[in-house]
Amino acid sequence: MTLSHTVAVIGGGPAGLMAAEVLSASGAQVHLYDAVPSVGRKFLLAGRGGLNLTHSEPFDVFMSRFGERRAQLEPMLAQFGPQQVREWAAGLGIETFVGTSGRVFPTDMKAAPLLRAWLHRLRAAGVQFHMRHRWLGDASAPFDAASLRFATPAGETTVKADAVVLALGGASWARLGSDGAWAPWLQARGVDVAPLLPANCGFDGAGWSEHFASRFAGQPFKSVAISFTDSQGRRFARKGEFVATASGIEGSLIYAASALLRDEIAAHGSATLLLDLLPDRSAEQVLAAAKHPRGSRSLSSHLKSRLGLEGIKAGVLHETLSREAMQDPAQLAAAIKAVPLRLVATRPVDEAISTAGGVRFDTLDEALMASAVPGVFVAGEMLDWEAPTGGYLLTASMASGAAAARGAIKRLGL
Ligand SMILES: Cc1cc2nc3c(=O)[nH]c(=O)nc-3n(C[C@H](O)[C@H](O)[C@H](O)COP(=O)(O)OP(=O)(O)OC[C@H]3O[C@@H](n4cnc5c(N)ncnc54)[C@H](O)[C@@H]3O)c2cc1C
Repeated sequence: MTLSHTVAVIGGGPAGLMAAEVLSASGAQVHLYDAVPSVGRKFLLAGRGGLNLTHSEPFDVFMSRFGERRAQLEPMLAQFGPQQVREWAAGLGIETFVGTSGRVFPTDMKAAPLLRAWLHRLRAAGVQFHMRHRWLGDASAPFDAASLRFATPAGETTVKADAVVLALGGASWARLGSDGAWAPWLQARGVDVAPLLPANCGFDGAGWSEHFASRFAGQPFKSVAISFTDSQGRRFARKGEFVATASGIEGSLIYAASALLRDEIAAHGSATLLLDLLPDRSAEQVLAAAKHPRGSRSLSSHLKSRLGLEGIKAGVLHETLSREAMQDPAQLAAAIKAVPLRLVATRPVDEAISTAGGVRFDTLDEALMASAVPGVFVAGEMLDWEAPTGGYLLTASMASGAAAARGAIKRLGL
């Protein structure tokens, strides 16, 4: 007979819930703790814009999105990757579809029905949920699996487990529970943590005038392209859209370039990307249109009728060029194809979609157990990896939750 072991899973995001699922299936007694009143809050937030669960591209391409951490994540994603995510969702009664971009969504695009079905299944499997239990791992009382302190509405309590999976998330959207407070606690226990940085984030800079910011903040640049080459020669170039903010820029196209831009700013104080306002027209075509005699028409009606540039696109040209330069077709055409936007800072990590940095893989064994604190496993966005948006974040969070659970199962001999 197998003796049942108690495993504490701390953090009820996708990583912790997946760990709880795998652990309970192996016969462990699973207690899941979360600081906030209900689990999966960021998962639900992700569902607001259409829950992008995973991506349908070939596995090799999928893995390339994890950049320098591919080697560490590949074994986990080989076991629980995009295909398994879809099968897992189907097992919960949620069918998925592949969108035009190759991204995979639940048919109804929503997170809530999936989370509901998942929690139902976890409860039926015996997972016990302890909400409003904030784990306190501070250095005043060094933690291990056998001594886990929690702040609860009824006061402080200490829990003993045979193993623990920490799945506390990154440091963005702290109001949903993941506040990154764990980083110094783990450091103090000898677990090496790379600084938590914003990933898939917006930027300050761009140098908008008050006039531009008051008129165009919140408005999108649509059907544009950006390009950026960092000082090591790494290049990003893509079409898409993004939004002007009062102090800079944000949105999907910027998020996609954000790791390169962030690292360049950290290394050199600024990063200048080039914005192409008309990516579907060549420089020659734009120059020919700019040179076209405009007769008595104003510059703005010329820009609009010949080049289709108005609103925020015309506005950013006025930000870039002097009044005289705007009248010069060569300078105007050059700016249309390459508006320089100089960025000087990331937006704070709390506003980011995800977090880079975290528990370094070389401080863990291959089962994701912290070498310095045996019995303590780490999963999800807490780990030191990052990826663009596109379903990679959820897939890798769940894959690492499953991997940490397998590590605990093996250690406990379940
Ligand atoms: C706006 C937005 C949209 C997103 N959309 C997508 C998307 O479409 N596709 C995608 O793949 N990814 C998306 N993401 C990212 C994705 O949601 C996260 O990567 C994922 O939720 C990380 O899972 P996790 O389990 O590691 O951490 P989290 O989901 O952050 O969960 C961590 C949990 O730990 C708890 N916790 C933290 N500290 C403590 C403590 N001391 N004690 C107890 N509990 C604690 C928190 O309350 C929280 O419930 C989105 C993120 C945002 C912000």
